[in-house]
Amino acid sequence: MEIVDNQYNSDPMRFLSPDIRTLQPYVPGEQSKNEYILKLNTNENPYPPSPQVAKAIQQLISNSADCLRLYPDPDAKLLRAKIAQQQKVDIDQIFVGNGSDEVLAFIYKAFFNHPSKSILYPDISYSFYPVYKQFYGLNAIAIPVDVNFQIQPQDYDQENCGIIIANPNAPTGIALELTQIEEILKANPNSVVVIDEAYVDFGAQSAVKLIPHYDNLVVCQTTSKSRSLAGLRVGFAIAQTHLINALDRVKNCFNSFPVDQIAIAAAAASFEDQSYFEKCCQQVIEDREHLIHELEQLGFQVLPSKANFIFVHHPTAEAKQLAQQLKHQNILVRYFDKPRINGYLRISIGTLHNNTRLVNTLSTILKE
Ligand SMILES: *Cc1c(COP(=O)(O)O)cnc(C)c1O
Repeated sequence: MEIVDNQYNSDPMRFLSPDIRTLQPYVPGEQSKNEYILKLNTNENPYPPSPQVAKAIQQLISNSADCLRLYPDPDAKLLRAKIAQQQKVDIDQIFVGNGSDEVLAFIYKAFFNHPSKSILYPDISYSFYPVYKQFYGLNAIAIPVDVNFQIQPQDYDQENCGIIIANPNAPTGIALELTQIEEILKANPNSVVVIDEAYVDFGAQSAVKLIPHYDNLVVCQTTSKSRSLAGLRVGFAIAQTHLINALDRVKNCFNSFPVDQIAIAAAAASFEDQSYFEKCCQQVIEDREHLIHELEQLGFQVLPSKANFIFVHHPTAEAKQLAQQLKHQNILVRYFDKPRINGYLRISIGTLHNNTRLVNTLSTILKE
């Protein structure tokens, strides 16, 4: 757009840097405070975090008068040590940030900035990937997933300056095998391959065990989904030390303290309570399989999911209309008005009670 910078121009956009004027920011799913609303639209965990989390926060505040007066540990060593222990890697192989969205922003800056080559990511994937591409002014090729929404590893055997793939993928829930990820890693020894494992704890295989064998692999995870800590904002990357050091360089040019004192203590406590974490994940997996079965009874086609959400299509009911009708009944699900996926709904797995309410409501809507 043409913007004339003179005193008669009242367009508020005139204050913005030119590249920011044309950005299309990420649009998060609706957050509602209404307690009657059933939120199945942003893949939050239906269960609360481990009780150890609240204890750790209370202890931190009551035991140390200095805990908020002083800056936190810029290296978040306590938290990184707990994550390293759980992931069976070295503390120098862990980077933590303010949500994995921020970690991804640092990853793009550290590894993907190239004047002429393109980043590769699937055409159907997490919508933040193209947002960061645009934000940093980079080039990218969106590689089409196949007709069954499967990622084909051989499509990633072409020139690039970095690859990012969500595994399981969002919003489809479909997971790759580790052998397929290895195929991509082997074909790209000179670029960084990022595997975004936001949903890996709900049944997919983690690529963390490949880290010793590949100097170009970065695995990204978050406490937002499987650890019920979306409100805390803690995400992390796991990779060989040379890649973690690169992320540290970027971080220390942007914000030395991305993870605050409370988040460090609270997330560390979550990693200490492994049995609670495993129980919650197992429950979500069981409830997912049950919900899939019930929706299939209603005529829905459900993509095979290894995540805490499912991606569903109904042959006779329009997805956009279904989402609106559910909203009228106080149930939020995610509809994407985008080519290839505008016939689908993404539905987060709730508690058994939540899922029953969803199925009953859908059943009534479909009968009308
Ligand atoms: C939710 C999500 C994230 C972001 O997680 P935060 O840690 O909450 O920022 C990253 N990648 C994918 C694919 C996600 O679905």
